[in-house]
Amino acid sequence: MTAEIIDGKAFAATIRDKVAGHVARLKEEHGITPGLAVVLVGEDPASQVYVRNKGKMTREVGMESVEHRLPEDTSEADLLSLVEHLNADPAIHGILVQLPLPDHIDSDKVINAIAPAKDVDGFHISNVGLLGTGQKSMVPCTPLGCLMMLRDQLGSLSGLDAVVIGRSNIVGKPMAHLLLGDSCTVTIAHSRTKNLAEVVKRADIVVAAVGRPQMVPGDWIKPGATVIDVGINRVPGEGEKMRLVGDVDFASASERAGAITPVPGGVGPMTIACLLANTVTACCRANGLAEPE
Ligand code: NDP
Repeated sequence: MTAEIIDGKAFAATIRDKVAGHVARLKEEHGITPGLAVVLVGEDPASQVYVRNKGKMTREVGMESVEHRLPEDTSEADLLSLVEHLNADPAIHGILVQLPLPDHIDSDKVINAIAPAKDVDGFHISNVGLLGTGQKSMVPCTPLGCLMMLRDQLGSLSGLDAVVIGRSNIVGKPMAHLLLGDSCTVTIAHSRTKNLAEVVKRADIVVAAVGRPQMVPGDWIKPGATVIDVGINRVPGEGEKMRLVGDVDFASASERAGAITPVPGGVGPMTIACLLANTVTACCRANGLAEPE
């Protein structure tokens, strides 16, 4: 069997088109422009690339993009006061504080200072609680993108065996809640899981969010399973160049899976598209308007 390749890049483009349509309608019919503020502290090169891409794509769909780039030695108090300022700004509907933050700043404190209604990353404790209890919340962008791809690929997920490898607060745990919400039978695996191979072999759906290059070999994959590879790992490529690989060994897994996301071009592009979608949702909620589906 050769797996269908799930084209996250194309899927993300269709989501961005829909977002652009909603933004245009919000402007025309209500005179409202959704605004997203992104806060970056320090010089982390990967974070700088993410923030630049987020700003570019925010503007491309017609939204207002506000970037706050603060020096590495910014105090926690100053960052918290910027968050307060953005919370109170009616032109800002979504606030994203790029992680990781420097060690001297308590990330939880900062994330939990964001107004939950503007928490487009879905990391505020209120949104985590709402998601965990199956209530309307802001859903973290990466797991939301994974869920959208799974629904698109499989239709109903009800009754399917799903394994999420990784239990982080930003990917693994919310992913598991979303799959449970769609009535999957969910296993969350992590570094202490025994017989990971056997656990993965049972799964109709595998979501790998570990951060270890190609750690899931093809022979762990149940024939016909759907594989979503969240991992982004830099490994030596040709010559001096680095290349990106996922947590799944794509070559061997695509011999057995029914469908699989590539790295790059799978989950990555969906994450930013979902961030834009969450910002429009936040804007609609803030203005008492119908939310996009
Ligand atoms: P974390 O490092 O926070 O979590 C990794 C998880 O993997 C932990 O729960 C850890 O277990 C588990 N793990 C580590 N080693 C093993 C192992 N040998 N077997 C089973 N489980 C293991 O990572 P994130 O969740 O933040 O990110 C995961 C990956 O996804 C990274 O490659 C990251 O770059 C990528 N990512 C991609 C995004 C995208 O947009 N495409 C967005 C966010 C992340 P334990 O808890 O026991 O330590």
